[in-house]
Amino acid sequence: MTVKRIRSLMIYILMAVVILAACAPAATEAPPAATEPPQAATEAPAATEAPATEAPAATEAPAEITDTELNVLCTPQEQWCQGMKQEFEAKYGITVNYVRMSSGEALARVQAEKDNPQFDIWWGGPIDSFVAAKGEGLLEPYDSPNYGNLTDPAKMKDVDNQWVGVYVGTLGFATNTDWLAANPDAKAPTSWDDLLKPEFKGQVMVAHPSSSGTSYTALATILQLRGEEAGWEYLKQYAGQISQFTKSGAAPAKFVGQGEAAVAIVFSHDIVNEIENNKLPLVLTFPQEGTGYEIGGMAILKGAKHPQAARLWFDWALTPEAQALGPTYAAYQAPTVKGVELSHPELLEVNLIDYDFIWAGEHKKEFVDKFTNEIAGADNLKE
Ligand code: PLP
Repeated sequence: MTVKRIRSLMIYILMAVVILAACAPAATEAPPAATEPPQAATEAPAATEAPATEAPAATEAPAEITDTELNVLCTPQEQWCQGMKQEFEAKYGITVNYVRMSSGEALARVQAEKDNPQFDIWWGGPIDSFVAAKGEGLLEPYDSPNYGNLTDPAKMKDVDNQWVGVYVGTLGFATNTDWLAANPDAKAPTSWDDLLKPEFKGQVMVAHPSSSGTSYTALATILQLRGEEAGWEYLKQYAGQISQFTKSGAAPAKFVGQGEAAVAIVFSHDIVNEIENNKLPLVLTFPQEGTGYEIGGMAILKGAKHPQAARLWFDWALTPEAQALGPTYAAYQAPTVKGVELSHPELLEVNLIDYDFIWAGEHKKEFVDKFTNEIAGADNLKE
């Protein structure tokens, strides 16, 4: 190869390198922005939470709505809270910040923030807490155009439009099937009295009624089934059977599924979730003499800083479209509006008591205080 040919070959290679370098992407190009919104902290106040990544372009929010964010106090399970946040953001382009809290904690937060509310709307948790909040003047009335969607407006909506029902769930018992196999003389409980049997001593798990709406529903169910005198007597014995009280209502199903105790008292849709999605060894039973049930509530908070967005969420949560989303996020509560197929109709086909939500809500503080002071304190609740 001549010197001339070597030189032209080198020039050719140099040119090729320059051309290739020009076409290649810059090595320093930033990675695309994360599209997943951050997980909501479970305890941080909503106001301090980082907003999700830039909200998606608004698609259906009416033009007159100028609120760009919404702070939601969310009481159902985390997965459903997160799912609803994402669905609402995608539909309306309004950023949702939420905090998940059990019902008793949520009520305490709303009371504490009375003069400077950090949340705009409270979504989920048994209606008793909403009735109690209404009694203290903490809720904002709203006449939603979607009340007509309710299947039973007389039961599912406050007469003064201060709260409304967004789901229905029944209380059940979850028993660990491995424990049953190891204790062949024992049977999964089918009555409230069964929980008092000697084999269940220290083997029952339930949340504490001060923190949990699930547990308060159980307490109010007993008092309604048996009357107050016999009911409180039963509750004393029931507390003697408990291995440990938990903070959150749904947690006992998980702990019992993991073998920490034999029986949990939990909403039946939470038991279904643990059996179907988490494959825990549990069997679901109901007390034959009657079980209590919840209407999960929703309300706009008085003094909400984003009232337009709060009303938009309120209306949306009363559509069949929004209520049909539950099972996508492992929430098997029954809907409160017409036009939604029930994922688990059998959970409602049980002997239900004629649960008095107004009475339960109006006595909530009195009954929780009595239980805490006279039967079982709320220290060291299992998280
Ligand atoms: N999670 C689910 C699935 C519920 O149905 C309910 C009741 O409304 C709650 C949580 C309420 O939680 P807690 O009992 O901790 O107040």
